Amino acid sequence: MLKATKVRLYPTEVQKQHLAQSFGCCRWYWNHSLALANQTYKETGKGLSRGKIQALLPHLKKELEWLKTPYSQCLQVVALNLSRAFINFFEKRAEYPSFKSRHGKQSISYPQNVKLVENAIKFPGTLGIVKAVIHRPVEGAVKTVTISTNAGGHYYASVLVEDGTQQPRTDTQGQAIGLDVGLNHLVVTSDGSKYNNPKWFRKHAKNLKRKQQSLSRKVKGSISRARARKRVARVHDKISRCRSDFLHKLSRRIVDENQVICVENLAVKNMVRNHCLAKSISDAGWGMFATMLKYKAEWEGKVYLEIDRFFPSSKTCSVCLNQIGRLPLDVRSWTCSGCSTHHDRDINAAINIRNEGLRILALGASATAVGGNVRLASGNTQKHLLLSTEAPSSSNVVARAG
Ligand SMILES: [Zn+2]
Repeated sequence: MLKATKVRLYPTEVQKQHLAQSFGCCRWYWNHSLALANQTYKETGKGLSRGKIQALLPHLKKELEWLKTPYSQCLQVVALNLSRAFINFFEKRAEYPSFKSRHGKQSISYPQNVKLVENAIKFPGTLGIVKAVIHRPVEGAVKTVTISTNAGGHYYASVLVEDGTQQPRTDTQGQAIGLDVGLNHLVVTSDGSKYNNPKWFRKHAKNLKRKQQSLSRKVKGSISRARARKRVARVHDKISRCRSDFLHKLSRRIVDENQVICVENLAVKNMVRNHCLAKSISDAGWGMFATMLKYKAEWEGKVYLEIDRFFPSSKTCSVCLNQIGRLPLDVRSWTCSGCSTHHDRDINAAINIRNEGLRILALGASATAVGGNVRLASGNTQKHLLLSTEAPSSSNVVARAG
């Protein structure tokens, strides 16, 4: 299995300078190739292949002396990443590739020849040995190492290793849990636990506001403005580290305690675009949380299952399956007219998500159910939910809209 560990790097001033130049060159090569690809896409409807992007390099290096600064393989990774970005776009897994900005996060990747030594990482080429805090044992063959820096000025290395183990077979037998994500609580589980949204932005909001105001008073282009910008970036950075720490611990706990984890597919991006909800939603970091649950479950042979988002989890009674017509967002609890059960809105939704997940798993195992009309979905333009006709091998079981 491939596993990634992120460690903090402490480059010297000279190394920082080399890195800054390398970041710049790789970014330039990405943007230059993307501009060409855009033109090709407009003319032919196709992207540029990895080979075609790489073939640009020798000529560019002859023309532009400075493009020789970064380790040559870092540039080749750019070609690989850009061609992959196009493949992901054409296979509808990602948005159209975008240009990289000189502000914010920067990164370069070393695809091979990187060694981990004591309290440092040895990179090939000019960069050499960079001091690092390797806070946990990294075992296995080192594959790609990506160096990144953020606007706050911290440096990190993400070390990808092949640890020599096989991904365990997924086992669907065991404790199942359904998760409902909300605004009042980050996660509500089918067994009735509610985990609070820590609302890091709000906690740090005062500090952030003060530093943003100070930034806005600075003269454009001045050194003090650059310093103030860095201070603002550090607060953002702190918030993001707090958030990922919290989400790592919560996802670890949920995966440890359960065998089957069912969540609702939220199409996070679309929701973030909804202006009013945007702040709270991006605050909670749902997308990041789902990713963490997924890979942690896969590592341990557990099942991570996303339920189609048009499944009416809130409006269905989990006891008698009676469906109610309307349930405004501010109604936190309701009584079912069919069986008189009093439901907590979120816990009921989480139980429905768990039941739906278990149903999909059970149906997936039986050949007779494959492809059949399973349920009438209410609302939107969706008429039926069809089960995917492929036999669900592991966690990638999906309910497909027909
Ligand atoms: Zn009921």
